[in-house]
Amino acid sequence: MIPYSTQTIDNDDLEAVRDVLTSGYLTCGPLIRDFEEQVAAYVGAKYAVGVNSCTSALHLCMCAIGLKKGDRVFVSAISFVASANCARYLDADVDFIDVDKNTGNLDVDCLENMLIEAKKQNRLPKAVVAVHMTGRPVDLERINRLKNEYGFYLIEDAAHALGAIYKGHKIGSCTYSDITVLSFHPVKIITTAEGGMCLTNNEKLYNTMRVLSSHGIEHDREKLFDKSMPNFYYEMQSLGFNYRLSDLQAALGITQLSKIEGFLFKRRELARDYHELLSDDKNLTLPVPDNDDNISSWHLYQVGIPFNKRDFVYNTLRSRGIGVQIHYLPIYRHPYYQSLKKYEPLAGAEYFFERTLSIPLYPKLKKLDMQMCAATLLGLIDEDR
Ligand SMILES: *Cc1c(COP(=O)(O)O)cnc(C)c1O
Repeated sequence: MIPYSTQTIDNDDLEAVRDVLTSGYLTCGPLIRDFEEQVAAYVGAKYAVGVNSCTSALHLCMCAIGLKKGDRVFVSAISFVASANCARYLDADVDFIDVDKNTGNLDVDCLENMLIEAKKQNRLPKAVVAVHMTGRPVDLERINRLKNEYGFYLIEDAAHALGAIYKGHKIGSCTYSDITVLSFHPVKIITTAEGGMCLTNNEKLYNTMRVLSSHGIEHDREKLFDKSMPNFYYEMQSLGFNYRLSDLQAALGITQLSKIEGFLFKRRELARDYHELLSDDKNLTLPVPDNDDNISSWHLYQVGIPFNKRDFVYNTLRSRGIGVQIHYLPIYRHPYYQSLKKYEPLAGAEYFFERTLSIPLYPKLKKLDMQMCAATLLGLIDEDR
């Protein structure tokens, strides 16, 4: 089976992990800081907190902004469930923002209408979670203007988007937002097996997330409530978690990050090749190509397929060993969310969900396999059932 995505692991990755295994630290050692600093430098953010998943990173964001029961959070309707679950961990109410029917990115007009309505009801959201779907940046400038007008925290879910560039700023630089989160799951741009990161330019949010990622324990003598205690002393100042990244994972992250430009180059090249091979077929809707202001990391290559053919194409491609996927069921459709309240279907999200298919794209996908995927897809689209 050709998967829709998979990791790229080379000898330098193996050596780095083996070196950690024979060193003094498997976790809580020096490599975590190194990895954090390197990712922060790469994206152009001031602060980074490495954690054991993007889901943990999202949870820490919501804790750090002080989200609580009764608060509201607006989330892109098309995303992985973790983008919304983080608000539910703190018992906040989630409402979903409809998406552009072709890109799956949140529809800023829809967000603005939700904010106007929320203001009338005096129930403005505490936070908005904006997902850079497939690695294509959302319109951060416009969302930032709404943030300034309505006063919410903007969290960028950049699980797909490490390496993407918006108006000259790398995603993760937090130029327009409060916090950006990354995922290092194997299907994402770089991997640490499981892993994630919170990026921010806000020192206070950074300190809170750092402390909460390790049980809420403060070691820094400057920040202790009781400074008169002897050296062994540390304080648990708040209720935190064990969300730490290990040195094993950080070592892998460091070698992976050193190769990111090559990974991105391959993804962009394959995306251009798909575009060339598929663009003559008028039955397919292809992703918008990059432009100077908006450069995707191409985590996914998604094609829009005529409504009545999508499931047939999905099943047939999988039966022929092409591991296509559907990203995603609108989050509000999941039984858990439906059990919370009656979420009405959103037109853009439903359209996107019913027609969109992710086809294989990852750095080591061979050109011949890519061509075979494209040809098989074209054959099915134009086949009369
Ligand atoms: C993968 C993903 C996550 C969760 O990442 P983990 O590291 O697996 O917790 C969150 N949001 C989006 C959009 C994702 O694709």
